[in-house]
Amino acid sequence: MSRYVDDVLHEVKTKNPGEKEFHQAVAEVFETLGTVLEKHPEFRRQKLLERVVEPERVVMFRVPWVNDQGEVQVNRGYRIQMNGAIGPYKGGLRFHPTVNLSILKFLAFEQVFKNSLTSLPLGGGKGGSDFDPKGKSDLEVMRFCQAFMSELFRHIGPDTDVPAGDIGVGGREIGYLFGQYRKLSNEFTGVLTGKSMPWGGSMIRPEATGYGAVYMASELLATRGETMEGKTCLVSGSGNVAQFTVEKLLQMNAKAVTLSDSDGYVFDRSGIDQKKLEFVMKLKNEKRGRIAEYADQFKGVQYFPNNGSRDHNPLWTHAAQCAFPSATQNEINEQDARNLVSAGVCTVVEGANMPTEPGGMKHFLEKGILYAPAKAANAGGVAVSGLEMSQNSQRLSWSREEVDEKLHQIMKHIHQSCLDAAAAYGHKGNYVAGANIAGFLKVAQAMLDQGVV
Ligand code: NAP
Repeated sequence: MSRYVDDVLHEVKTKNPGEKEFHQAVAEVFETLGTVLEKHPEFRRQKLLERVVEPERVVMFRVPWVNDQGEVQVNRGYRIQMNGAIGPYKGGLRFHPTVNLSILKFLAFEQVFKNSLTSLPLGGGKGGSDFDPKGKSDLEVMRFCQAFMSELFRHIGPDTDVPAGDIGVGGREIGYLFGQYRKLSNEFTGVLTGKSMPWGGSMIRPEATGYGAVYMASELLATRGETMEGKTCLVSGSGNVAQFTVEKLLQMNAKAVTLSDSDGYVFDRSGIDQKKLEFVMKLKNEKRGRIAEYADQFKGVQYFPNNGSRDHNPLWTHAAQCAFPSATQNEINEQDARNLVSAGVCTVVEGANMPTEPGGMKHFLEKGILYAPAKAANAGGVAVSGLEMSQNSQRLSWSREEVDEKLHQIMKHIHQSCLDAAAAYGHKGNYVAGANIAGFLKVAQAMLDQGVV
């Protein structure tokens, strides 16, 4: 790694103490930029790395609301406007008790390069709150969303910053957030994506991240003359990304055998079919129940509760050919990566953001498996959000087939861009380097063009 990269990484750690997820995300990108910096000495002269790690703006605010018992609750809200060089800030909102500045900055940083890869004019941002929607009534969620938007509305706009969903923020939350934005701004604009169809949503947006991940897996396999057909797949999570990953796997005649939540995971050797998937969607999106109930509902399913004392997650030990981590960051450590490869997995596609720890990533790369990092693999979600913005601007809505075809083409384009950038900069076949380099180059060039701002 070059001295310049080392120095900037050191500065990032000193200036942002304790933000370990942010440090991890920055290191992962910078470690792949050595040959780029050699070919482009102007990046160093213009302090591109120092600039790209500094958010353009961070907003942090109090979110007071009242629960069903009449008690005042106080949460913390955030919006990180990381980089707007190629378009309005764009990235999801996460509502989860683990949310803090480090997690949102890592997500916003990743988002910048992911959005660049989609080829759409989208800058990068991320936001959210340490609010936990789990166990809250609909009315409590509504009051929280209204309180959150009462501050956020002054920082966003259809040409400024367009948030979407992420962990804990689905269709219900987007609806409440949009309602409050519309009331406060007295405008009906495409200020959020992931909206419901009758009021400005796009076809395929809910499906986009999961479908996109499976399209990416097909592209990876095609480089070795293989298809998804008949592949056994390990999927983690059971939220938006996991559900639509399983749906697309079914459409491609592949078989998902696992799903999880933060309490544990289920292993269904016979495969999660359409009927079982419908049960999961109802369980998670309407009843807001736990994945353990899947094992009570269907015969022959094993449920494994989480056990914090293990050094690995047994979900990643089952025999399979493909894995789609789709829950959260750092869910595959080095031991898990070793277990996956030993279990026969030769294709790993990251639906979640930064699900693989650095040691795990290194192992996948050393073993030469087909490995699509999150920036490339889960970009389908933000890509269709970009398409939702285009439809809102034109006041049109495209058909399901039209959006799905565009999504498919975008995923093919991302795959090819990764391969091309990796080859051009001395990392042939390495999708991690390819995604970082292709995403970075476009943003860096835009920043140079726009001067020191
Ligand atoms: P979601 O619908 O809220 O589902 C999240 C799932 O992950 C749930 O099953 C949840 O279980 C589990 N999970 C969350 N935090 C966890 C933790 N700390 N430990 C174990 N399990 C945990 O969220 P999602 O939209 O599917 O997002 C999943 C991942 O995909 C995230 O990394 C997100 O950033 C990424 N992503 C999402 C999109 C999108 O369009 N939605 C786009 C790109 C990337 P519980 O129910 O127990 O919390």
